[in-house]
Amino acid sequence: MIKTVIGTDIDYAAELLCNGEVVAIPTETVYGLAANALNPDSVQKIYNLKNRPADNPLIVHVADIEQVYKYTYDIPEQALKLLEKFSPGPLTVLLNKKDIIPGTVTAWQDTVAIRIPKHTLTQVLLDITGLPLAAPSANPFTYISPTTSMHVFKMFDGKIRYILEGGACDAGIESTIIGFPNNNPTLYRAGAIDIADIEKTIGVKLNMPDKVTRTPGMHKKHYSPFTPVLTVDDIDFEIKRNSGLNIGVVTYNAYTDELPIDNQVMLGTTDDMTVAMNKLYATLHDMDSKRYDLIIAKRFPANGLGVAINDRLDRASKQ
Ligand code: AMP
Ligand code: MG
Repeated sequence: MIKTVIGTDIDYAAELLCNGEVVAIPTETVYGLAANALNPDSVQKIYNLKNRPADNPLIVHVADIEQVYKYTYDIPEQALKLLEKFSPGPLTVLLNKKDIIPGTVTAWQDTVAIRIPKHTLTQVLLDITGLPLAAPSANPFTYISPTTSMHVFKMFDGKIRYILEGGACDAGIESTIIGFPNNNPTLYRAGAIDIADIEKTIGVKLNMPDKVTRTPGMHKKHYSPFTPVLTVDDIDFEIKRNSGLNIGVVTYNAYTDELPIDNQVMLGTTDDMTVAMNKLYATLHDMDSKRYDLIIAKRFPANGLGVAINDRLDRASKQ
């Protein structure tokens, strides 16, 4: 068995990556399982570790906009506007890939998902290695994404050599993914950037992806704890309906009187959903260790960041 170490040795992390190995890295969204995106064998290791289906493409992380030009071509004007406004940050754009990006990274599509992450350690790592790093979230397929090094350790102890310690993730939820089919800016995944801010930047409404177009990786069941989750609007009703079970509750900005407060986590106290978004995965990880029979989650107001939070809670509740 491999010994898994958590540490802040960037040079060691860089050395492992340059030798074709997988390293867990911090980003401002969630922790990622990173490998050299130009090496198909290294990329394959990520799929194996995550038990991720081969039709679920990976996001490529690069140091700066020069690197975006290096690996993609014909970048739409609106993609440039978004990159300028939100990079480095939790924005992923789908762009035409150059041949140097192997098909294993993109599930053999012509577009690559590319992002400039904001976390300082990972920016230094990208600089030192000079590599584009393919890095999906560092969790087994369908499980909750990690927002601390400890979450990663629990899931990959004995399977990877190194976890780069970068503290708790700032955003705590995945990046917002925007594609440009036929030059129409399209939302592929709601994420850490409010959709309204994206629309303001490009001056048009986002399309939702064409149902006919294959949207890889958007599996219905995802982000799921082992404990069953029910995401609902009326938590009181579900608590009564499931009386007799040991229930944990994830609420938004008010506790329910139907259960002791010890069984509840309130994600936000105000209408600002940033804090709730930040705590969402850590809360689900924690709740999953408490051996409840059932977790009941309250759906958020369906605007702003609530769209992304509800997307994750709804997927967590799919069996
Ligand atoms: P993760 O890295 O685990 O956050 O997941 C990356 C997600 O990005 C995938 O599940 C896809 O939904 C999306 N994605 C990556 N590449 C593409 C692409 N070329 N076209 C459409 N969606 C993509
Ligand atoms: Mg993921």
